Amino acid sequence: MTARIGVLALQGAFCEHEEALAQCGADVCEIRTLEDLKGVQGLVLPGGESTVMGKLVQEEGLLEPLRTLCRGGMPVLATCAGMILLAADLPDFVLQPRLGVMDISVRRNAFGRQQESFTTFLPVQRFCAGAEDCVEAVFIRAPVVERAGAGVEVLACVDGHPVAVLEDSMLALAFHPELTWDLRFHAWLVRRAAARTRH
Ligand code: GLN
Repeated sequence: MTARIGVLALQGAFCEHEEALAQCGADVCEIRTLEDLKGVQGLVLPGGESTVMGKLVQEEGLLEPLRTLCRGGMPVLATCAGMILLAADLPDFVLQPRLGVMDISVRRNAFGRQQESFTTFLPVQRFCAGAEDCVEAVFIRAPVVERAGAGVEVLACVDGHPVAVLEDSMLALAFHPELTWDLRFHAWLVRRAAARTRH
């Protein structure tokens, strides 16, 4: 059982995601143009610089096609800048191009500058077996969720702010599982994409 997973590869840390997905048995491809979306069953929106990534997505004419796929229930794993791309509300950067398909309000760079990057151990609901079972979560100029809509499930928090959220088939993480080789989130994406295709 495998699935074709497209990794948005216009900017940012996409190579590590590709490697993690390959280890989960996915058929991985890079998304740079509309053509690349053909046959894709799941998507990764990687970390990077969301302003640049959003602009490039817009320039490539990918904003609307990606929105349509997300709204149509395509499984998505978004990390860090990817979470920002998904956010419906971005109060401090209202005009920043993004998909805006997830019912969350996000604050960019919520933990401060690059020097304030940190690692912590988080029990992430649905993905961890209990409080003892944690994910090593690397935060790099990470965003936080300030408001999560009624249909959004909060899976983990730091300082009371949601940093892992799930809405339908979209999973958004403020941290970077692709940097610690914790494959649980990528495996979830591949499973979900494969299961959806079979039905
Ligand atoms: N600070 C970046 C932004 O606002 C996100 C950082 C990341 O993806 N590691 O776009």
